[in-house]
Amino acid sequence: MRPLLLGLVFSFLAMPALACQLTLQGPAKQGGLLIGSAPAGAKVSVDGRAVRVAPDGRFLVGFGRDAKVKTKVLALTSDGHTLACPVVIAKRTYQVQRIDGLPKRQVTPDPVAIARIKKDNAAIGRVRRLDTASTDFAAPFIWPVKGRISGIFGSQRILNGKPRSPHNGVDIAAPKGTPIVAPAPGVVALVHPDMFYTGKSVMLDHGHGLSSVYVHMSDISVKQGQRVAKGEMIGKVGKTGRATGPHLHWGVSLFATHLDPMLLTGKMPK
Ligand SMILES: [Zn+2]
Repeated sequence: MRPLLLGLVFSFLAMPALACQLTLQGPAKQGGLLIGSAPAGAKVSVDGRAVRVAPDGRFLVGFGRDAKVKTKVLALTSDGHTLACPVVIAKRTYQVQRIDGLPKRQVTPDPVAIARIKKDNAAIGRVRRLDTASTDFAAPFIWPVKGRISGIFGSQRILNGKPRSPHNGVDIAAPKGTPIVAPAPGVVALVHPDMFYTGKSVMLDHGHGLSSVYVHMSDISVKQGQRVAKGEMIGKVGKTGRATGPHLHWGVSLFATHLDPMLLTGKMPK
């Protein structure tokens, strides 16, 4: 009896990975966002953590810059079935980017600046904890600005020779005053006239923890709490805060996890 049981266990372990029993759309790679679909009324968890599920069964799964290789999505349906989806996450390699000539006080902030940065980060953190019922994330994203891509997601940044945290968005160089549009519908969750690093800054909430950030703007044309349509102008390109030239830094995150905006839009159109 025993050897047979053991044999069964071993043959089970030796089976190939289970097929995905859920629908997940998007790139399963570091920095990617997947839109999942489970039967309506199901409860969904990602690596054991419950995630919000829309009434129609949609949910989000995001992978950070250094996400581990495997994750497991489980859905418990309202009639008691468990549906599993093992996901293998493709690894990426990242650039090393050196930026020199930044003002010293912006690379090594003084105590007054540090206090300001803490306040800025707290405001940004509040937006990144939002978990609203909106499903604005489902609209395919467009580029908020068209221009030359001058910085990509995940690059290890070395500012004035000092290693800093990886670049958590995409930089698009464009002339000062170029309109910036909402790449997807959303609600304006933050408007700030002058953050230490990011200058004039706007954040949009797209629902289920997905938010986006637009910084270094020369002008802001939306108000906190306002609903914006995809393609609606939210401000203009500038170089406020820590920026060496006019560009839009665009970031997207699922709660605190930074995602690669380029994986939402595809290639920059000509
Ligand atoms: Zn940037």
